[in-house]
Amino acid sequence: MIPIYRMKVIQIEITNACNLGCSNCTRFVGHHKKPFFMDLETVAKAIESLEGYPGQIGIMGGEPTIHPEFKEICEIVQKKIPDRRKRELWTNGCKWKEYEEIIYETFDKDLITYNSHEDKEVGEHQPLLIAATDILDDRELMWRLIGNCWVQWRWAASITPKGGFFCEVAAAQDMLFNGPGGYKLEKGWWNKNPNEFVDQVKRYCVNCSAAIPMKGVSAHIKYDIISPSNAKKLEKVGSPKYFKKNCKTCTFKMTEAEIEENVKRGWTPWSHRPYKQSGPDTRWV
Ligand code: SF4
Ligand code: SF4
Repeated sequence: MIPIYRMKVIQIEITNACNLGCSNCTRFVGHHKKPFFMDLETVAKAIESLEGYPGQIGIMGGEPTIHPEFKEICEIVQKKIPDRRKRELWTNGCKWKEYEEIIYETFDKDLITYNSHEDKEVGEHQPLLIAATDILDDRELMWRLIGNCWVQWRWAASITPKGGFFCEVAAAQDMLFNGPGGYKLEKGWWNKNPNEFVDQVKRYCVNCSAAIPMKGVSAHIKYDIISPSNAKKLEKVGSPKYFKKNCKTCTFKMTEAEIEENVKRGWTPWSHRPYKQSGPDTRWV
């Protein structure tokens, strides 16, 4: 794990609603009975709490443009993050036409990630609702893999209406499973070394499979792959996707040899699909 202050981006998750329903979504879209929409006061507080943070500040969802106050949020971003080069936006383009003007007014083109998810031929997601504790009996190996989790090394920390988190998937899991919430949004909450956020690592990483080298699945299949302990949790929270039978419960175990084999085969879950920068008509990267 790396310190939160060394992570490249901290995302402000303004909603977990999305117009799409990809399988094995990092925000567990489809599993929430009711999505959240962050209020403007919390958006402002979240940005203020990041004063002095050296990385980028992302506006993300779910799909952020679905937020009914997306325009007002852009205005807060303009006011509270004077350095344009620190602002990022992640969108699937759902309401691009409606908001194109304010988007370009707020964000530099090269700092907009436009990922429409529309090309059914590409796009893989690693299942995230397979609990590491369900498939790895070797706990020493499990913690070693979690310590090297690519999401935490390469992706983002996160802020939801429930506080600050060392990892965006942990934040989504806290929301889904009614966790105790994240760090209070006080200035400098992000100034933490791994030994200072170990409480979150112990709580969330054990329910997650991102750190375990395994084959990804198409983002366009209709179901999530889950494991027994998470099936019980989804049942308890009344997940609509679970009760619509759009989940397949797996019961396999993995060995160190299989994991090594998957790594040798070229496990690169971070390059899960090409995406466009800045807008629908610009380049693939
Ligand atoms: S577009 Fe993103 S947030 Fe929406 S369902 Fe797909 S993976 Fe999840
Ligand atoms: S194992 Fe899951 S919760 Fe833990 S850092 Fe990786 S993605 Fe986040």
